[in-house]
Amino acid sequence: MTGVDVAHLPPIAGTSDESVRRAIDTRKIVVCVEDCLDPVAGSAAAALVSVLARTFPHIDVRGDVAVGANPWGVSMLSEVLAVIERARPAATADADHEYVIAVGASIGAADLWLGGGDWTALVGRGPQPVQRCRTALGLHAGAAFAAAEAVKTALGPLGMLVVPMADLLSWNLIDYHLTPAPPVAAIPERLAIDLVLFGAGSVGSTIAGILACISGLCGNAVVVDPDIFDATRNPPRYPASTGNEVGSKAAWVAQLLAGAGLSSEHHAGQAGDWVRRQEHPGVAAIVVSSVDTLDGRLQVADAVARTTLTLGVGGMALHLQRSHHDDELACPFCEYVSAAPALTQTAARAAAVGLTIERVGDLELNHGLLTDGDIHAAVAAGRLDPARAADLVGRRLEDLLRRAYAEASVPTVGGGETRVGAPYVSLMAGVLAAAELVKSAMGIPLVDRRVDIDLTGVPLGVVSRPPRDVSGRCTCSSGLRRRWAARLYG
Ligand SMILES: [Zn+2]
Repeated sequence: MTGVDVAHLPPIAGTSDESVRRAIDTRKIVVCVEDCLDPVAGSAAAALVSVLARTFPHIDVRGDVAVGANPWGVSMLSEVLAVIERARPAATADADHEYVIAVGASIGAADLWLGGGDWTALVGRGPQPVQRCRTALGLHAGAAFAAAEAVKTALGPLGMLVVPMADLLSWNLIDYHLTPAPPVAAIPERLAIDLVLFGAGSVGSTIAGILACISGLCGNAVVVDPDIFDATRNPPRYPASTGNEVGSKAAWVAQLLAGAGLSSEHHAGQAGDWVRRQEHPGVAAIVVSSVDTLDGRLQVADAVARTTLTLGVGGMALHLQRSHHDDELACPFCEYVSAAPALTQTAARAAAVGLTIERVGDLELNHGLLTDGDIHAAVAAGRLDPARAADLVGRRLEDLLRRAYAEASVPTVGGGETRVGAPYVSLMAGVLAAAELVKSAMGIPLVDRRVDIDLTGVPLGVVSRPPRDVSGRCTCSSGLRRRWAARLYG
């Protein structure tokens, strides 16, 4: 890697690009772990190191613990940095100050403490206890908040619009309120999961990475994604990556899930292709979708799964939404049809990549590939570094968009923007999906219905229930489709 993602972007008037890189590169992140962490908590500590080390070139791990099941194939925390070396940015400056994140209450001095357990995330400016863990999902969520806080404190002074956390953030993955988790049944030793994963990108691979940290999984998984792993652009955004992956993303993610104990298969194609290949309509397994195109989302809605969990990421904000085919709440596509959001979405993407709305619409609807002319237009619009443009010809629009995807925007003096990769956004999305899958395996209620988190701020502690689109233009309004779904699931 040549540096944090600011290096991938065109030069911006003034020295702001430099100052963002400097703010990141001069800060050494120190992760201190208490030696009594159990290996399951050790996996969450490894996830914390994994996301921080993809953003900050200077990082130090103090203390060492055993790491339980994990996607990187390490057995001790001290091995993580070497294993993900190829996914890490190079430093452009020497570190001149430290920011210390402690895992466990016995660490005496730190800027931030991470604690919690299976369902509760605790992040505080004073010591926080780590509970005995079965899944450590709450700790993983806390790791995402702690990494976000490290970036906020580095970039806030430069003008990034942030809401720093108060002295204590206490939040849980059961009801998503700003409290410790309410009592629930103990998590059993065996967790049966039946999963179809549409999308094996930064979010989909992270879901698999989190599941790979949980022992005792059984069941089936299908992973569907047409893309090929990009060894330059993907590892900084993919917390589960070591930087050594090649070939089909779906195959890689299926392999992670097989390592987690699931009987898994992959399909290197679009969601719609896989749906059409099925012998019977409908999907009884839980569909977890992180596809990031309009057309892909429509294909997911058209799969008419019994239960669909949709994840969306935009900048530093993300959401998870549960939908069903048979009620009056939103389907996976509803939010994209009302009030002409399709055009808004296309317009936003056009602005992000410097192409015309018509061209972006054409690429989206027809699965078009980027031409020489597209790349020239993106370079001319200042959206693409000419030195890194040539390899994009013949790739998909998403590859061009990805440079603006899961990134922190920092308003700068010159009026432009510079960006920093934010793999902890993917980590949080992965945790949300994994938590819902564990709940489903336990037979406890899933999210009712949507949780939104903006990692430039703090969680709001609420969930929402978006209604179904009533314009009649969404695929879920079709009477035929609804009768058909009713017949499928009763
Ligand atoms: Zn709908």
